Amino acid sequence: MTSPALPATTERSSSAVATCAVCPHPVASHDAIGLRFCQATLNGAMSRGCVCPSS
Ligand SMILES: [Zn+2]
Ligand SMILES: [Zn+2]
Repeated sequence: MTSPALPATTERSSSAVATCAVCPHPVASHDAIGLRFCQATLNGAMSRGCVCPSS
């Protein structure tokens, strides 16, 4: 699998951390359960907490 047009380092400065759409945590800090929980929150347009492991 090759990605010919992917820039390797040009996107670092724009938004280094992708934040979750429904909670204030970086997507990278979600575990599998947290991802599913936040996805369900997003799908249901609900406003509730999240189950991310606190850092
Ligand atoms: Zn989240
Ligand atoms: Zn969260």
